[in-house]
Order: sequence, then C-alpha cells, then structure tokens
Amino acid sequence: MQTEMKEITDGRFDYAALMQGVRILSDRYPFLQFSYLTESVMGKGIPILRLGEGEKELYYIGTHHGAERITGALLLRFLCEFCALAEGGHAIFGMNLAYILKSRSLFVIPVLNVDGADIAANGAPRDSLLYARLVGMNGSEDFTHWQANARGVDLNHNYDAGFAEYKRLEPTLGITGGGPTRFSGEAPESEPETGALCNYLRFNHPTAVLTLHTQGQEIYYTSGDRCPPRAVAAAQRLAKCTGYTLAAPEGAAAYGGLTDFCIQKLGIPAFTFECGKGKNPLPQSDLPLLYAETREALFTFPSMF
Ligand SMILES: [Zn+2]
Repeated sequence: MQTEMKEITDGRFDYAALMQGVRILSDRYPFLQFSYLTESVMGKGIPILRLGEGEKELYYIGTHHGAERITGALLLRFLCEFCALAEGGHAIFGMNLAYILKSRSLFVIPVLNVDGADIAANGAPRDSLLYARLVGMNGSEDFTHWQANARGVDLNHNYDAGFAEYKRLEPTLGITGGGPTRFSGEAPESEPETGALCNYLRFNHPTAVLTLHTQGQEIYYTSGDRCPPRAVAAAQRLAKCTGYTLAAPEGAAAYGGLTDFCIQKLGIPAFTFECGKGKNPLPQSDLPLLYAETREALFTFPSMF
C-alpha cells in the first residue's frame, strides 16, 4: 500500500488522485471515518477524515490554494503513516497513538479547495459552463498558478475576520473582482467551501486548528494583537520541531484567513504553516522534503493540547 500511496501523492495530485488515496486509506483502515464536508462550487465532494473518539478535537486543513495542492498530498502521506502505526499499536515521538486516539479526535481535510487544486493541476475543464469565465478571470489558459476556487474567490481571504478591512484594501492591490488569487469574495463565507468549514467548526468543539500552505518555512499563530492562551507554548514547540520561524503575517496575508477566524471568532489556538521554500507551485518532488520538515509537528500537534 505504501508504494500505491506514494504513486498517488508523488504524481500530479489532482482531484482523482486525492479521492483514490482517500478510498485506499478508508477501505484499509476501518477506524478511519470518511465523509464529505460539503460539495464544492463545481459539485465535487470535499473529503473529511476522522481518527479517534476523544473529546479534544484537532483539525488539519490542507490546500486552501490550488497551486499549493502539495499540502494535500502531505496530509495523505501523514494519514497513511499514522494509520499504519496506530494499527500496529506503535508509539512515535514518545507518544502512544492508541492513547492519543482515545483521548482525542483528529479531523483531516487534505484539500479544502478541491476545484482550485484540480484547475491548477489540469487546467479549466473545457466541458464546464465555467470554462470561459475561468479563462477570462485567469487571463490565459495556463492555470499553473491558480489559487482561488472555481468562482475566482481566494478562500483564505473569505473568512469573517478582518474581511471589511481587506475589502477596503483590494482596489489598492489592483483587485476588482474574481481572479486567480487574493479576491476575497462578495461577503464572508460566501463560498460553499468556507461556509461549510465554518459551520462545521462552530457546530463542533475544536481544540486547535492547523492549516497548511506553501511556502516560506514560517509559522503564523497570531491575528493582529490577538493570541489565545496556550498558543505561544505550542507555537514554540512547533517551531522547534520544524525548524520554521515564528512570524506574523504581513500585508494582504494578514486578513480574512482561517487562522484569523479561529483566533478572532472561535478564540482557539490556530496555526498556519508555510511549508517548504521556493516558488509556488513547489514541485511535487519536494514532497519528501516537506514531509521530513513537518512530520514531527504533525504527529505531536494533538499532544500539545
Ligand atoms: Zn496559501
């Protein structure tokens, strides 16, 4: 199975590959619960996977941005190793995984922006009613750098945290409507992907949320001057085991993101990893490197709360 998964995560990693990986894992491990968060703009199911039955809920969210779909592959690879070790009753980084799964629940959404990831991987689908609009917004048929969802909304600017402030900035950034990146949408949570995730988080009782992006080898854990209790100690541990630098988001990156929403509206610790170093999209061949950098942090994150 490791070889099969490696082919999936190391290849093009589009929506078909994501679903193939999710099915292999959920068929193989009965304790891995698989459902859908909701459907994307283009009607694709967004898989969410749950491990464990404990009260404390830890969330791992990958691929808000289409051209950063390597983070989805990274989370599949993490799930694959976690499940194999948990099934064998093993410990890792000094943690007994059976105990972790009794006391905690891990929720993993490898790819939140399933449409954007597929568009960045394969281009806009020619048989879609959105094709002409997507090409118009993108300005070309090369979608390699596409970050937004299928309506041209940047999901990580669509959360209800600093939305109005960012909206005022948009014209100065040359953003007037839907496009490949940085357009925040008409209203907070206007998109099915963000709306469903926010409702899911509000309905449940998340303890902490970790969101993966690329790139920069940095960790964000504050929103403006806010930082929930316990976040500092966890951020320091995450920085230590990744070698990443603790930083505060600057400019446009400081508004409307999931980490901002979790800190400002839910009052819980939340972290953004900017994984790897280079120019987006990072080549899929960087996956082993990204996994080596983040592996200990991904495994030990639940034990920090
Ligand atoms: Zn990103």
